[in-house]
This record gives sequence, structure tokens and C-alpha cells, in this order.
Amino acid sequence: MSSHSISIVGSVALDTIETPFDRRKNLIGGSATYATVSAGRSSPVYPVGVVGNDFPQEGFEIFRKYSADLSDFQVVSGSTFRWGGKYDHTMDNRETLFTELGVYETFSPILSQKCRNSDYLFLSNIHPALQLSVMGQMEESPVVIVDTMNLWIETAEEQLFEVIKGCDIILINDSEAELLSGQMSLEKAAEIILKLGPEKVIIKKGSKGCVLFSDKNVISVGIFPVKNVVDTTGAGDTFGGGYVTGLASGLGETESLILGSALASACVEDFGVQALLSLKNEELIHRQIIIRDSVSS
Ligand code: AMP
Repeated sequence: MSSHSISIVGSVALDTIETPFDRRKNLIGGSATYATVSAGRSSPVYPVGVVGNDFPQEGFEIFRKYSADLSDFQVVSGSTFRWGGKYDHTMDNRETLFTELGVYETFSPILSQKCRNSDYLFLSNIHPALQLSVMGQMEESPVVIVDTMNLWIETAEEQLFEVIKGCDIILINDSEAELLSGQMSLEKAAEIILKLGPEKVIIKKGSKGCVLFSDKNVISVGIFPVKNVVDTTGAGDTFGGGYVTGLASGLGETESLILGSALASACVEDFGVQALLSLKNEELIHRQIIIRDSVSS
């Protein structure tokens, strides 16, 4: 499958995760990591991110395997971004225990030419100021897909609005959509968010799938039922990476959503990116077939 290129900006992190059953420290995580592992299976991906000199070898190996070029992946002296999250028994709800920006605090990348010329730009979850800076350096009017989180809606709303205004597609989860729009109903929230600028809004509903809203249509896509959900961290970023690689590879809208959902289902089966790294293509195709049955439009 040939594909257009995708630049991905976001966090590259060391995560500490607590679930009702287990706890893991310093897992390779971050929004850009999940998105790169997901999209890098089938598209040339250029990750834009920074790590400190404490970033483990295992992390570099993951990025080497799933990226087409690492010119925009910096290693500097200091601490890698660290995030801690704690899940309740539903595994859909979590609280942030800590966020330590580390080397992201001063990260202000000047993009390589390759990255500037890419066809798709995935601004995965990170401070909107960084998203804006990367967006402003693109030279070939890429398709821009944006993800965000409640923290930025609460602390950097103005910059976030600017990002949303300049993007083509926004990915957001249901509670963030409510926070951003002030509306409880997904339809009303989508209507308000569409008015901010994007052509499409995709609302992620965790274990209940996702819905895409645009002026033209509404597409609802379900999930692949996972028997044992271990860790849902990164499911949204993995979904985003899968959706973007679908678009970049020429799949239609619905098939791209299905691919995102299938990859996200693998993500939640183990801690960190572990299950994604071992996901076989046959299994991915099987999951896409099952999810296809849940589509309504
Ligand atoms: P998700 O579960 O899809 O929301 O993504 C979780 C990932 O996002 C984790 O690997 C975290 O390292 C990363 N993350 C958490 N908080 C932030 C933040 N404020 N900015 C960027 N990335 C974050």
C-alpha cells in the first residue's frame, strides 16, 4: 500500500500508570509515540518531538522502526516528559497524577524540509502553542488533523481556538467536547465545534466507539470487543494515528475510522505500546472486519 507522508507532533513520554490491578513505571508513552507506532505501520511518518538523555534505548528502537526519518526527533540534555495517570475500574475514566514537561518546557523546533513538505500533519495532544508553531512552518498546505485534551481547554483556550480554526479535522473525546462547547449532547457539541473552523469533528467515546460529524454526514463506528482491557492509555492517540494513516493511504472516511478503531483495540490489551508492537497484520484485518459490522451512517 503506497501512502502520503505524515508529520506527527506530540509528546514523547515516560508514563507511570496505575490501574485497579497493576502499576507500571516509566513506560515508553506519549501522544506522538502512540500515533507514530500506529501510523508508521503503513505510512512514512516524520515524528516531531524531544526526549532527554534519560530516554531508554528501547524507546529509540521503537522510533527507528516506525519512522521514515528522525531529523525532527531531538535528544537534548535534561529529563524526558513524564506523565502519571490512575484509572478507575471502568478503565474509561482516569485522573492525571502528575505532568512533568521536562525538555518540552523549552522545545521550539525548527522543522526539516522533509517535515515541512509532508502531505498530512497530525497535531497529537501537546500544548497548543507547539501545535501552532509546527502548523505555521508547513509549506505544502497539508491536511491538518488535531487532537487535544481538557488541560489545554482549561489553560490555553485562546491558542487552542487558533489551532482548531486552522485545522481540517479535530479529534476530541466526549467529555472534552462537552467542556469545549458547553453542550451535553454530542450533536450540539459537534455543531458548535464545526463552527470554530474544522470541516470534520470526530468525537471519541472510549469503549463506545466514535462518531464523525461534518456538514455532509454523520458516521458512527463501534469497537472490537476486547476481553481483557489492561491499560487504555494512548488509545485515543493510536486511534488518531490509525485514522490519519488510513486517509494518507487513500482509504475512505469510514475505512479510516475502522482502521483507527482496530488499532486502538490492540493498544488497550497491554501496558504502553507493547500489544501494538506485536500486532500481526492478519489480526488487524480480522478486527477491521468485525468493526465494519458496527458502522452506521
Ligand atoms: P490518551 O490516553 O490517548 O489520552 O494518551 C495518553 C498519553 O498522552 C500518555 O502516554 C501521556 O504521556 C500523554 N499525555 C498526557 N498528558 C499530556 C499532556 N499534557 N501533553 C501531552 N501529552 C500528554
